[in-house]
Amino acid sequence: MAQEFSDESQQALTGFFTQRIEHEKRSQLFSSCHLIDPWIQKCAACDTPRRETTTHSLGGILLGEAMVYDPYPLCLCGTCEEEIQSLLSHQTLGIWDDFVQTNFDCPPGQQLDLPTRDRPALF
Ligand SMILES: [Zn+2]
Repeated sequence: MAQEFSDESQQALTGFFTQRIEHEKRSQLFSSCHLIDPWIQKCAACDTPRRETTTHSLGGILLGEAMVYDPYPLCLCGTCEEEIQSLLSHQTLGIWDDFVQTNFDCPPGQQLDLPTRDRPALF
């Protein structure tokens, strides 16, 4: 699906994740422990402790029941998610909205609890 995003949005996402998240530092600190908690204790982009965030999202890659580590799992606070959403083109936001509506059966009113208020986070 990411290939459908506009070039502008792909570059913006790549820029955000390479400039704002210290992947090498996270890998050095956490990769040897294979525990989820250290990876998600803080927002990966701004270091705000997760417990101090008003809202946050967690991302990860699972193979069956096994977590795939590095660079995931990660936490992004609602403020950083809002920043990511603001970087995306209208075309990309439309593609993302269509994907979510087609593939997820969310309960009524679920958007009220989303950090980004009107769409799930993209990371
Ligand atoms: Zn943040």
